[in-house]
Amino acid sequence: MTTPQSNKNNALLNRQSLQTLYAHASERYPEEACGFIYANGSVHTGTNIQSMLYRTDPQRYKRDAHSAFTFSIADLHRLETSFNSDNPVSVIYHSHPDVGAYFSDEDTDKALFMGIPIHPVMHLVVDVRKRVVEGALLFHWNGQYFEQIHSYGAADSSDTALTEREVVHEYV
Ligand SMILES: [Zn+2]
Repeated sequence: MTTPQSNKNNALLNRQSLQTLYAHASERYPEEACGFIYANGSVHTGTNIQSMLYRTDPQRYKRDAHSAFTFSIADLHRLETSFNSDNPVSVIYHSHPDVGAYFSDEDTDKALFMGIPIHPVMHLVVDVRKRVVEGALLFHWNGQYFEQIHSYGAADSSDTALTEREVVHEYV
């Protein structure tokens, strides 16, 4: 029998999902990448429009895409409509370039409305340093705060990830 908990930790974040979003995080570096993972494990790589917002209204938007993310309208529409489908979004991911994977105060603010999660999802924060993904942490809302429930290493996405990382470091 499959429990909801084992679904969360195993079925959702399979190697292929991780590989796709790790590649997205690396590609978008030094900006934050964002996107989501559906219940069936497929990944939607989103568009971070934070730098556009910042350029348009720097008084209101204090950060550009190097340290914040905002989904595009199209992404948000896709996200919202998924919850009425048989393949809802289960995880929202974004990357933290060069600062480590943790669930920041800004992340908490963004995920809550009046103290309640806006979407019924978990959150994955990807640790990317100098374009190389080091791993990712998965958080869920425990009723009081976003609690880390799982961590993934770089090698969880690929058998050769460690080797590739060593090679990259040699030339940095
Ligand atoms: Zn964040």
